[in-house]
Amino acid sequence: MEALKRFDGAYWRDLFDSRVGKSTWPYGSGVWSKKEWVLPEIDDDDIVSAFEGNSNLFWAERFGEKFLGMNDLWVKHCGISHTGSFKDLGMTVLVSQVNRLRKMKRPVVGVGCASTGDTSAALSAYCASAGIPSIVFLPANKISMAQLVQPIANGAFVLSIDTDFDGCMKLIREITAELPIYLANSLNSLRLEGQKTAAIEILQQFDWQVPDWVIVPGGNLGNIYAFYKGFKMCQELGLVDRIPRMVCAQAANANPLYLHYKSGWKDFKPMTASTTFASAIQIGDPVSIDRAVYALKKCDGIVEEATEEELMDAMAQADSTGMFICPHTGVALTALFKLRNRGVIAPTDRTVVVSTAHGLKFTQSKIDYHSKAIPDMACRFSNPPVEVKADFGAVMDVLKSYLGSQTLRS
Ligand SMILES: *Cc1c(COP(=O)(O)O)cnc(C)c1O
Repeated sequence: MEALKRFDGAYWRDLFDSRVGKSTWPYGSGVWSKKEWVLPEIDDDDIVSAFEGNSNLFWAERFGEKFLGMNDLWVKHCGISHTGSFKDLGMTVLVSQVNRLRKMKRPVVGVGCASTGDTSAALSAYCASAGIPSIVFLPANKISMAQLVQPIANGAFVLSIDTDFDGCMKLIREITAELPIYLANSLNSLRLEGQKTAAIEILQQFDWQVPDWVIVPGGNLGNIYAFYKGFKMCQELGLVDRIPRMVCAQAANANPLYLHYKSGWKDFKPMTASTTFASAIQIGDPVSIDRAVYALKKCDGIVEEATEEELMDAMAQADSTGMFICPHTGVALTALFKLRNRGVIAPTDRTVVVSTAHGLKFTQSKIDYHSKAIPDMACRFSNPPVEVKADFGAVMDVLKSYLGSQTLRS
């Protein structure tokens, strides 16, 4: 920070702004366009990047107006990215550093991670593009097909292990203590250095205006800290004069941070997480718990939770206004609904919901919802396809009845 402080806020704003939308290596990446703040000493030739970042900050105008009476609601689509989740932002940094270590002949035979799906997808893709072996530990039958197919296709060595994420995490920590495999989980701070650029990007996309709220779904809790760090650096280095309040949103089935918050930050208790459609945050013993608590205290943050029905309904509601979000983003939107209803977030507050993965990675959950195939869930916003015979009259009949109901509605 001392070295960075030699330049003022205006210098950094102009520098970052000058790099947006160009393809100059490596600054075409949203992460590496902030290289001086991320990993300043790495040689440009050692960087492994897919020009991740620079994701869409979407004005959720219709969703905000229709469901919340808000007109300044935004969704930061971090999942519109190379492997379909924000994990790309951290993985480009980590794999670049490993690439550098291997060129320096350090004994790193490969990179490993435990994953709820998206980390392994990002790790495999970046390693494959640099020719570095990757090894992923996945909980058997707990991740989506779309997530599993990515490391397989990218040539990772995939271990499907009969346990949950926390079990995989424990195993890989033991294994990497014995073997020269570099551990790629987010307790590795290189990942967080990359992920923090999403926060800087939000400020940049608002022309360096600070939003009032930023809502982030949290599991292992590295990302909520990374966002805090990005905002805090922008404040300390004079790019902006304050930071937003942050909300960490958890699934009620995997809510150790929420319970900790509710207890007034008394003692933290890890738990065994239950199954949730928000499978990437099904974590009961988050490795970055201390970082997350620190960040939330510093920004006057809040923790909220979402039941399965709430998160699936919120996802379907968002989709019905033209988005196509993942269940984790549904968790964040549920937190927004609750804070809006309690009057904590005002209708005019500028609010950003962080969307962490692309909805296309979680299609099975959407199909189950829309076919009302989920036990004990009303699926209030489902929109099942109408089955109809290949017959002119039959098609006319269903269309007329559909069009009639549309006219009545409008
Ligand atoms: C990893 C992930 C999260 C949670 O991020 P943490 O840093 O583990 O809290 C949320 N959503 C998706 C889609 C993810 O892949």
